[in-house]
This record gives sequence, structure tokens and C-alpha cells, in this order.
Amino acid sequence: MITNFENNFSYAQKLDAADDLKDFREQFYIPKHQGKESIYFNGNSLGLQPKSTLQYLQQELDDWARLGVDGHFDAINPWVTYHEILTRQLCNIVGALPHEVVAMNSLTVNLHLLMVSFYRPTKKRYKIICEAKAFPSDQYAFESQVRFHGLDPDDAIIEVKPKRGEHYLHTSDIVDAIKKHSGETALVLFGGINYYTGQLYDMEAITKAAHEEGIIAGFDLAHAIGNVELRLHDWKADFACWCSYKYLNSSPGGISGIYINEKYVKETSLKKLPRFAGWWGYNKTTRFKMARGFDAIPTAESWQLSNSPILILAAHKASLDIFEAAGMDRLHAKRKMLAAYIRFILDKIIADKGSEVTEVITPANENERGCQVSILMHQRGRETFDALTKHGVVADWREPNVIRVAPVPLYNRFMDIWEFGQIVEAVLSK
Ligand SMILES: *Cc1c(COP(=O)(O)O)cnc(C)c1O
Repeated sequence: MITNFENNFSYAQKLDAADDLKDFREQFYIPKHQGKESIYFNGNSLGLQPKSTLQYLQQELDDWARLGVDGHFDAINPWVTYHEILTRQLCNIVGALPHEVVAMNSLTVNLHLLMVSFYRPTKKRYKIICEAKAFPSDQYAFESQVRFHGLDPDDAIIEVKPKRGEHYLHTSDIVDAIKKHSGETALVLFGGINYYTGQLYDMEAITKAAHEEGIIAGFDLAHAIGNVELRLHDWKADFACWCSYKYLNSSPGGISGIYINEKYVKETSLKKLPRFAGWWGYNKTTRFKMARGFDAIPTAESWQLSNSPILILAAHKASLDIFEAAGMDRLHAKRKMLAAYIRFILDKIIADKGSEVTEVITPANENERGCQVSILMHQRGRETFDALTKHGVVADWREPNVIRVAPVPLYNRFMDIWEFGQIVEAVLSK
């Protein structure tokens, strides 16, 4: 890792020239601002469109036009099994085995379906331990699941908060909460990365701590997938879900996915492992006999309900092919460099202007963060954000005063970061 970065134009230019992923930017549509390509730092909210997406969609539209219903079996990528062609690439990204993963539904829907199976409160053990300031949709899912079981969210949901005066959690804060509430907890459910602070949690340590107390551990990877290294199977995580429209560039509202540890997927009895069932989770060899009684596929696929939305799977495939061509190792290496460079630029500004003006609330340690940097603006926050927007930087404003930016390895440049720094510095120097 480079430690002697420089904050100047020609240095950023040099980093870009040496970047072996630099050509991938060409494969994406970069939105324009006043005729010039914008500095798109919102890949953590909605990833950009690959130029190839249209072609993948067109293929399925053509097969639909040509074949009608026969496309289910006779399309170039038969629709009945389309989701299967995504599994290998997803496994590579999340670190799982093929029978542990399936692309389906949307994220909050999957979170609910997984909680149906893995949040099984008893009289004694009924609590959920989660991070404070979880993404709102997750908070609402937890709250409504708890109520669905006739419990009171104020009692049943334990939010682990940063210590007073700190911005993010220590792994020990989480482990301590698990130990403290072990006898009464049914589920530990964390984000992989917190959407607000950008903190990457130690999922392996959280899983281990939960398992030591006989608690199930699940993760929402919305901000982690396609961003940081994941090894769900090796970490022995019980379950996880994610979306594909953030770092995975797979279209607005695109398909979600789930991981379920192999120790569960072979349990096909709904009595022993409840799940909400639908015909797409049914034994593939006999599905079309349409018989009574649910016969579960002995893989994560048995959590599927409906036949797959082929067009959004096609958009997903377009992007996963790009991820495969780039290679996760190269993506992680560049991601770490981008994150280190933006941190370096921001640290310079903070050293110059003072931490009473602005500070970074994302952990500095590269093992505790991904692409995203969250900047807490104590002064001139809105003004800074507006200046960024005016200069074509697509960032994100979170009330009351946080600016989130996420330089991603597939289409961002080191020059983007340098320019961003120039704009922030100019506002704070006025
Ligand atoms: C983006 C995000 C969501 C969004 O949920 P959808 O069901 O896809 O609308 C949920 N949870 C987290 C943690 C997210 O980051």
C-alpha cells in the first residue's frame, strides 16, 4: 500500500495511468453534468449502467418475441433455469458454495423471508441484536417481525450503539452485547457495512460470538457485496441477503440474493425448518406435475417463491460478467487504493481546517471499511454539498450533516478524488 500519496493533479494522473482496471470505465455510461462526465461517487446508492446491459436485455426480449412461452425451455438462456447461471459468479463474490446461494426477489422481501426461517423466538430467547442506525428498511423489518410474534420492539430489539463520543462500533462492543444478552437472544442481525458510517463489521467475529452463545447470525450485505471481500461460508454465517443495484450495477430495484449456510439447505422439512414456500422452491424434476404437498429443493433455491423476473436477471448477468472479467482480487486492490487516497486527501483538509469544521466518521483502518467515506460536516455542510453538486460531483447528503462519497474501482478514477478534494477545500477556505 502506498503511504506517500501526493495531493496534486499530475500525481493523480500518474495513479490513473498505472491503474490496470482503468479501461473498465469505458464499459459504463457516466452521467453528464453540463456536457462533462460527472464525478460519480454514488455507486453505493445506485451503480452505473453497463453499456452491455441493453444487449443482455435485448437477448431475452428477442427470445420472448421469437418463442413466446417456449422461451422457458428453448431460449438461448432457458428462463426456467436462468437464475442458475448467476450462482457461480455470485458465490465467487460472497464466498459461498453453489447450493448456498440464489438470486431472487428484492432485498427487504428476502430479509423478511429469512427472518421467517431464522428468527424463531421462544419464551426465553426472543431478542434481536442489531446495530444502532441500521438502514431504515431493516429497522422496519425487525420491528414488524417482532410484532408479528406478539412481542414489543422496545423490549425485543437491542441496538448496539457506539460509545459516547465515538462514531462507530468496536467489535468488542458487539461481542460484549452478545455475551450480555446471550440467554435472551434469538438472533444477531447486522449489516455487513453500515450505510451511514461506512463501517465494515467483523462478520467472522460476530458469527463466532453468536454461535458460542447458541445464537443465529445473519447479515444484510447491501453495502458490502461487490465492495469488500466476503467469505460467508468460511465465516460460518447462518444466512445473508443483499441487493444488486448498489455496487453491483444491476439496474434500479434490481434482483436481490440470499445465502443460507449448507447446514440448513439440506433440511427440506418445513416442520423442522419453516419457510414460506412457492412453486419455484419445489423439486425441479417434479415441479410441473403440480402435485399437492411441498417438496423442497435441497438448496437455497427452495426459498424461491415465484418464477424469476428474467429481464432483471439479465441486467444482473451483464454486470456479473464485468465483475468476473475485472476479477475480485484486482477490484479489491484498487478499491483499497481509492479509499486510501480519498482518506489521505480528506485528512489533509481536516489537518488544515480543523476537526471542528469537518471529520471523517468512517473507520481509518482498511479492514473496517470499503469504498465509502462518510464525512461529518460540523460547519458549512450544505454549502459544501451544493458546491460539489454544482461542479458535477454526485455525492449523497444524509441529514443532519453527513456527506457520503464512494469511489468505486470499476469506473472511478484517482483524478475524480483529487478534483473532489479541490472543491471541498475551496469551499472551506472561503
Ligand atoms: C439499500 C438497502 C436496502 C434497500 O432495500 P430494498 O428492499 O432493496 O428497497 C435495505 N437494507 C439495506 C441495509 C440497504 O443498504
